[in-house]
Amino acid sequence: MKVVLNLVKKEKKALFVIFGGTGDLAQRKLYPALFNLYKRGYLKKHFAVIGTARRPWTNDYYRDVVKSSIDGMVDSQTKINEFASHFYYQSHNVNDVEHYETLKALADKLDAKYELAGNRLYYLAMSPRFFGTISKYLKSEGLADTDGYNRVIIEKPFGRDYQSAKELDDEISKYFSEEDVFRIDHYLGKEMIQNIMALRFSNSILSAIWNNKMISNIQVTLSESLGVEERGGYYDTAGALRDMVQNHILQIVALLVMDRPASYCAKDVRQKKVETFKALKVYSPEEVKANFVRGQYGEGKDMPAYREENLIEPDSMTETFVAGKLEVNNKEMAGVPIYIRTGKRMATKATRIDIVFKQDKGSIYGEQALADNILTINVEPDPGIALSLNTKKIGQEYATKKTELKNSLTKEQAARVPEAYESLILNVLQGNSVNFTHWDELKYSWKFLDAIRKAWDEEGLPVDYFPNYSCGTMGPQISDELLAKDGNYWIFN
Ligand code: NAP
Repeated sequence: MKVVLNLVKKEKKALFVIFGGTGDLAQRKLYPALFNLYKRGYLKKHFAVIGTARRPWTNDYYRDVVKSSIDGMVDSQTKINEFASHFYYQSHNVNDVEHYETLKALADKLDAKYELAGNRLYYLAMSPRFFGTISKYLKSEGLADTDGYNRVIIEKPFGRDYQSAKELDDEISKYFSEEDVFRIDHYLGKEMIQNIMALRFSNSILSAIWNNKMISNIQVTLSESLGVEERGGYYDTAGALRDMVQNHILQIVALLVMDRPASYCAKDVRQKKVETFKALKVYSPEEVKANFVRGQYGEGKDMPAYREENLIEPDSMTETFVAGKLEVNNKEMAGVPIYIRTGKRMATKATRIDIVFKQDKGSIYGEQALADNILTINVEPDPGIALSLNTKKIGQEYATKKTELKNSLTKEQAARVPEAYESLILNVLQGNSVNFTHWDELKYSWKFLDAIRKAWDEEGLPVDYFPNYSCGTMGPQISDELLAKDGNYWIFN
């Protein structure tokens, strides 16, 4: 164990090249994540960052932007200045092959100056339509031709269906091998999502009952209270199914129902996840109708309807809510309904998983109903777990009552939880892809999703089908009816 910890703590040497260095993702997530790695000692003297984008910023201006993105994260201005001094800006149009020469010259210079051993990490924080071009020129212009490693981090969305995802993957894999491609899904960097495997595979009392004999159903909710904000243009062409289900939700489901991996290493975990995706039942159009519902928010609680948002067509048929029932036909989980739900402008922002266990044979105290045994994994906003049990009601009466055993992180523990991007960037520095999506996982997840999308597109709903839920609610009534058909209900409401 000591050896593993030492390895993880060792300072990493690398050059980060951030494409889209002026963008929202870089400023809101990547620079704070890099700063946290710096504070924790994973990045020290031997690192440098090149931010690239078209606008003509100077190094000084760029460093000021970086500093303001980490404002308030530490008191010491000296530390902030030291950190920012490792950042360099290079104006660069990714479509212009000649710009890669300038980029290479700067990369080589920084490599020598900071003694980076040729280790390079390219973060593609840009629209996916540029991924193929960037990968091609990184190789052809010799940037990725160093003695160290050359790893590419790719943001979502990875395609908009199986075909486009495959074309993108074919393009990138011409230049980078699968082991050097890190497809990021930031949910896999969240502490409580990473806790799923720890809970399932380190507790005999849970692993013994994690199967279709004991589990009644599984529920996954990713609810957002915000609307589309500034992302209307993108969102209206994507919808909740592509934006949330294909990636985050299916990844969480895979962790919940996959078979036990031989070890916590990328090869073993990904193998079990791929098997799970293969076992995910792809629905026929009739099955889509029976198992998936969609919604779009109307106005409510002083908030506008989706169709009134900026950049959204007044007759848009894009779904802002999805609920569905999934079936994974592997040995342990076949027959267990897996209900998933996500939406915008819902009552609250939360990510929560409920494992509902089958009821005991019945109360020995008579006719009274027993409460469900439920294991809840609260991912956010209040990370922790809870287990509800039946215990005896206090007093002379012989009856049971529901008791909840609850564990939430203390303030100090919560403060120690790394941000998702921080954990994932560290994984890339370590060359550890356990929390990244393999192409084979994507392939099957898109095939599953395409069947739903196709059935929906062919169904042709009337324009007045939407809106069907109000802002500030937990989605349309059809979402409750989906579970009611099976005699179930959303635990989180
Ligand atoms: P953004 O704010 O629009 O940033 C796009 C970046 O690309 C800018 O830095 C822009 O800078 C640069 N750019 C555009 N065309 C270029 C060109 N031809 N050559 C060089 N640079 C160019 O987008 P974002 O929100 O950061 O998102 C980036 C990617 O991450 C997208 O794929 C998005 O879907 C994904 N993502 C974002 C978030 C998030 O929270 N923002 C979350 C998950 C995934 P210039 O205009 O100066 O060139």
